[in-house]
Amino acid sequence: MKRALFPGTFDPPTLGHLDIIQRAASICNKLYVGVAENSNKPSQTLFTTLERMAMLQEMTRAMPYVEVVSFSTLVVEFAKQHQIDFLLRGLRAFSDFEYEFRMALTNRHLSGIETVFLMADERVAHISSTLIRELARYHAPLSTFVPKEIALRVAERIAQS
Ligand code: ADP
Repeated sequence: MKRALFPGTFDPPTLGHLDIIQRAASICNKLYVGVAENSNKPSQTLFTTLERMAMLQEMTRAMPYVEVVSFSTLVVEFAKQHQIDFLLRGLRAFSDFEYEFRMALTNRHLSGIETVFLMADERVAHISSTLIRELARYHAPLSTFVPKEIALRVAERIAQS
């Protein structure tokens, strides 16, 4: 029984995140998708923690191995409390590598936990939450980047802001 934690900001969740969550099924029995409450992102998030969790829950409704949670502690604290065997992260491009490498080493130093990386699928490797928020500001169609319901929510939220 392998338990993994896929932590992130998910503001909003995208088809890239969904791809990692689906492919994780082959390497773990239980996957916690952890929404970071205290984002280290410079600007505030577009969606609240509860909204980001609700979107992820909708996206993963048919995946019984997934549980969406939020955390406001260090990732490794949450991992310890929930007997997580490894952290899961996605890698899109070489530019992700340096940050991810530092985080993985730091988390291993702090708690001994390993991080497993899945390479992004080339069909969604260009997708990031930042890109979605930028496209939405220019009213670009989002349906090839995020699930349809999420495209609507992002467009609505941007229109309100
Ligand atoms: P964070 O703020 O922790 O980087 P994100 O929500 O941006 O949170 O990303 C969470 C994880 O999902 C990271 O490991 C990131 O590399 C991965 N990820 C994001 N977009 C994609 C994608 N298109 N394909 C594969 N992995 C992705």
